[in-house]
Amino acid sequence: MIQNLIAGEWVEGPRASRNINPSDTRDVIGEYAQADAAQAREAVAAARAAFPAWSQSTPQQRFDLLDAAGSEILARRAELGDLLAREEGKTLPEAIGEVARAGNIFKFFAGEALRVGGESIPSVRPGIGVEVTREPLGVVGLITPWNFPIAIPAWKLAPALAFGNTVVMKPAELVPASAWALADILHRHGCPKGVFNLVMGRGSEVGAVLLDDRRVDAISFTGSVATGQKIAQACVARMAKFQLEMGGKNPMVVLDDADLDVAVAAAVNSGYFSTGQRCTASSRLIVTRGIHDRFVAALTERLRSIKVDDARKAGTEIGPVVDASQLEQDLAYIAIGEAEGARRVVGGEVIAQSSDGAPGHYLRPALFVDTTPEMRINREEIFGPVVSVIAVRDYDEALALANDTPFGLAAGIATTSLKHATHFKRHAQAGMVMVNLPTAGVDYHVPFGGRKGSSHGPREQGRYAAEFYTTVKTAYTQA
Ligand code: NAD
Repeated sequence: MIQNLIAGEWVEGPRASRNINPSDTRDVIGEYAQADAAQAREAVAAARAAFPAWSQSTPQQRFDLLDAAGSEILARRAELGDLLAREEGKTLPEAIGEVARAGNIFKFFAGEALRVGGESIPSVRPGIGVEVTREPLGVVGLITPWNFPIAIPAWKLAPALAFGNTVVMKPAELVPASAWALADILHRHGCPKGVFNLVMGRGSEVGAVLLDDRRVDAISFTGSVATGQKIAQACVARMAKFQLEMGGKNPMVVLDDADLDVAVAAAVNSGYFSTGQRCTASSRLIVTRGIHDRFVAALTERLRSIKVDDARKAGTEIGPVVDASQLEQDLAYIAIGEAEGARRVVGGEVIAQSSDGAPGHYLRPALFVDTTPEMRINREEIFGPVVSVIAVRDYDEALALANDTPFGLAAGIATTSLKHATHFKRHAQAGMVMVNLPTAGVDYHVPFGGRKGSSHGPREQGRYAAEFYTTVKTAYTQA
């Protein structure tokens, strides 16, 4: 059985869970120990005990650990990417790209361990010096979702450790293998006992301990809005610092002057790659009438020929849906769209087997047209390969609709007009804006996150990550 890492020891749990390959449900990847609440508390105690020494470790020690972990992740990208594709179902090139991103994030934050610092500011009073310094928070609980099983753990873990915090991480139940690989790498590169603890298990049990235990100083969470709300309430109740990255209903605007090929490629990537299971997926295509019919025809044609198959097979463009319950959710939304009067022009059919006859959770990518903004398929996050087109008169109507959502993660526009691109970058109510690019696909060294109902708290990634993983102290000295 593959074990949890608590206080530098590999430990069994009272239960085990199996993770299954969604491309071939006969393929059991492994048996993973599930921690219980008592073990989660032990992990918190270990992180607490390790904090004084780790917070005083030299930047060089933290650099060495993160840099070595990053190098190993990069060197093993093909092998770890294969594991990720097998576990989560994104295609092999996407999975290898995600692993490389995780490796680069470790290397970036290795550098940040050396760079993070404070400043000296002149006092307004004579003879007094003012220093502003950054200090670690203490024990940080990391709770992660299943859709980016290695990149999201990496973008929380690397800054947490770089800035001198100790960590208890609880990965999503569906994808323990990728998170476990990170634990194994850190452990083998000499991460001191208790500095990083991995507890696999249920959100309602293991995750709940992290929320309620007063020895956990902060929680960084990525996942659904419903869980995010629970986390916010628990953290507010005990005044713990928290950061939430949640869902999206991201728009992509296509204007009459767009390059058709660019617009279709961006829409396919944004809406359907990674099986649409990305928080940054564009599931609302807001298209002006002059290009609408040409755009829908070209997109439909592309989707008809797109290759849906085993995630690890060469040439696959879209892998399976992650599991049976997500597939059910996708199909339920397809039925809702039809009941609401939207017209499905392509896709939406379940494919029971890969081209090799392996049973899996495959779904042909679906496109709805003749949709209206108030339809549920245009308001709620589906988290699958189901996208709709909303026809609009002009840019102004497109921008208003793009912003008419409780979410605010990413927003895209396809246009050759510098004026509209510039206006959109300024006025789209989203944390990330893409011009003539898919809304998914982001750099690893710049801020990631959203606004409105998508995110809460400081941004993740890049040097902005220090805003969450450190606290500022202002010291006054009379000379
Ligand atoms: P989820 O909310 O079901 O689970 C996320 C994590 O929270 C899991 O580890 C789960 O075990 C844990 N959890 C569940 N209940 C808990 C509780 N009561 N206490 C503590 N922990 C608990 O989300 P998911 O289905 O794994 O992921 C999909 C969601 O994640 C989508 O909504 C997607 O948009 C979002 N997401 C957001 C971003 C972003 O950066 N904004 C990135 C990726 C995914």
